Amino acid sequence: MAELMNCPNCGGLFVKTNIRDVCENCYKEESKAFEMVYKFIRRRENRTATIFETSEGTGVDEELIIKFIRTGRLQLAQFPNLGYPCQKCRTIIREGNLCIDCTKELRTELSTFEKEQERMKELKERNKSTYFAEKKF
Ligand SMILES: [Zn+2]
Ligand SMILES: [Zn+2]
Repeated sequence: MAELMNCPNCGGLFVKTNIRDVCENCYKEESKAFEMVYKFIRRRENRTATIFETSEGTGVDEELIIKFIRTGRLQLAQFPNLGYPCQKCRTIIREGNLCIDCTKELRTELSTFEKEQERMKELKERNKSTYFAEKKF
């Protein structure tokens, strides 16, 4: 189904497709940028470039390069130093949304939260039974 939306880049209206989340014009621009990035990173001396160096070398926005990586357009397998920042601490990572440390931290936070939830539930249950107990008498 055709879905009209505003291009996140330039604000123009366009029909969203699976492969395109920006308008025709911006998509062309992105493709050009991708070509530049790809050409740059494929040179042997640039294989180990970081995202920052790639951005400097091509003039392409870091954010856009990150998008290429996230959408899988730029495959990381051949480029050991490429990656994108962890959503929490900005460490460069190569998969998922968070780095190992932040994932661990999140897990601890989650389990604390779950335990707290469990405790509240128990407390509620207990209150309920006391309530019913009182009613009976
Ligand atoms: Zn656009
Ligand atoms: Zn992190």
